[in-house]
Amino acid sequence: MGELKVLGGSQSDGFFTTKFEALLAWARKYSLFQYPFATACCGMEFMATAAPRYDIARFGAEAPRFSPRQSDVLWVVGTISQRQGPVLKRIYEQMTEPKWVVAFGTCASCGGFYDNYTTIPGCDKIIPVDVYIPGCPPRPEAVLDALMLLMEKIQKGNREPVTVPPREVPELAKRRAARGGKVQS
Ligand code: SF4
Repeated sequence: MGELKVLGGSQSDGFFTTKFEALLAWARKYSLFQYPFATACCGMEFMATAAPRYDIARFGAEAPRFSPRQSDVLWVVGTISQRQGPVLKRIYEQMTEPKWVVAFGTCASCGGFYDNYTTIPGCDKIIPVDVYIPGCPPRPEAVLDALMLLMEKIQKGNREPVTVPPREVPELAKRRAARGGKVQS
């Protein structure tokens, strides 16, 4: 899929593109309707991301839809038990193409510390995942990073799964530097 090119003048003067798919992808990435499949504690961080402080509305992704038929992005938020697995799969199947999946937190990504017979070790065992967000729970900043990664994937038409990289907290980095790079015990 090509890049969206601005031909002649600035964006405020209007633009046109020679590649329709690029225009469509550009429009899609700024208009994401999400289905939050929230099952556990990670749901709190999901709500924090949607609140005004982090303001997910900036990315055109603020509107939750509780019908899979009206959703573009399935957020799997929390632990998935064996009994919930078939429900999650059914919801994914009911979404229309194109659709994307984000595994929100360690439990959704790999089962987390619930290493037992009741828990599915990652939602990718039953549905394909586009973006993994590590963390127990992930901070809202990581969630926004995931959303931006997803938007980039949509623009490029890339379906390879990606993982949100760790983010350095400036205050902790400063303290670590002050201790000569040693982690406090
Ligand atoms: S990753 Fe941690 S916070 Fe999220 S659902 Fe699992 S145990 Fe809860």
